Amino acid sequence: MPATTAPGGPPAPAVRVEAVSKRYGDRLAVDDVTLEIRQGEFFGLLGPNGAGKSTLVEIMEGLRRADAGTVALFGRSPWPRDTTLLPRIGVQTQSSAFFVRQTAHEHLRTVAALYGAPRTAVDATLETVGLTGQRDVRVESLSGGQRQRLAIASALVHAPELIFLDEPTAALDPQARRALWEVLRGLKAAGRTIVYTTHHLDEAEELCDRIAILVDGRIAVTDSPHRLVGASRAPSRVLLPEGRLDEATARAIEGVERVSAQGGSLVLETHAVGPVLTAVDRIAGLDGVQTRTASLEDVYLDLTARPAEAAGTAATTAETTEP
Ligand code: ADP
Ligand code: MG
Repeated sequence: MPATTAPGGPPAPAVRVEAVSKRYGDRLAVDDVTLEIRQGEFFGLLGPNGAGKSTLVEIMEGLRRADAGTVALFGRSPWPRDTTLLPRIGVQTQSSAFFVRQTAHEHLRTVAALYGAPRTAVDATLETVGLTGQRDVRVESLSGGQRQRLAIASALVHAPELIFLDEPTAALDPQARRALWEVLRGLKAAGRTIVYTTHHLDEAEELCDRIAILVDGRIAVTDSPHRLVGASRAPSRVLLPEGRLDEATARAIEGVERVSAQGGSLVLETHAVGPVLTAVDRIAGLDGVQTRTASLEDVYLDLTARPAEAAGTAATTAETTEP
């Protein structure tokens, strides 16, 4: 389907969220969020449990109503239900529902029929998510990971332009996770737009063009993983095989800020990797020495550590004061 284009203007963004808020009782789950996702972009939404990711995504999908603000998908509001939008979007939620007493194939056929997708798409999509062998297995007999893959298939079967996946790899084993990455890379290469929530920072770093980190319902930062890591002030780590250097000597090296023993390595934290490596080379040699630069995980932990603790405390208080 061709990209939606405003007359004479640039293509409408796939998703536009403006000043969206959502409150549950006295809990502000989404707090004045504004963001824009371009067509063809792979956009990741990260944040601790309870940060508001699912609420925000479900508002984008038109499954929940915002208290305030506006959402537009390809320039059209998803709330109230817009039937012209439905075939263009695919949705996998965290609590996907299935048609009961149906096999995987029957379930997906029903979903395909709802969207007017061709029957041939059903087998192809089962194959894509690696469920061909389970096509005749009833949905309730599938394993957790297989059900999750069927939920993902249900979001893909009608070849939507805009795909929402809410923690799609949560129940997947490492092989299935990698296989899904490949599927998603293929969709991205085909020009689809993907909105993706995850707890796996490696995943975000590998797949996403841009990410937003949500903390307590607010966007703490939006940028490419590369730029976020580049702008990070987190130290690099130099890892030495255990026994190569004693801690006191390591601590005395100029530029070393912290020394610790971790998982069979002596870890030297520094913002001056070059000079520290030179010194290590002189004292102990560089054989088996590894260097790790700051990762997205460092950036994430830096942004989310304290607010997440605060949120945890607030949640506990709310629970204990509930009647
Ligand atoms: P995330 O997906 O980032 O884990 P959610 O969007 O599920 O976060 O939840 C954000 C906050 O809103 C949490 O504090 C959660 O308990 C609360 N919440 C989510 N859904 C509901 C609901 N239907 N009713 C009441 N509170 C909710
Ligand atoms: Mg969630």
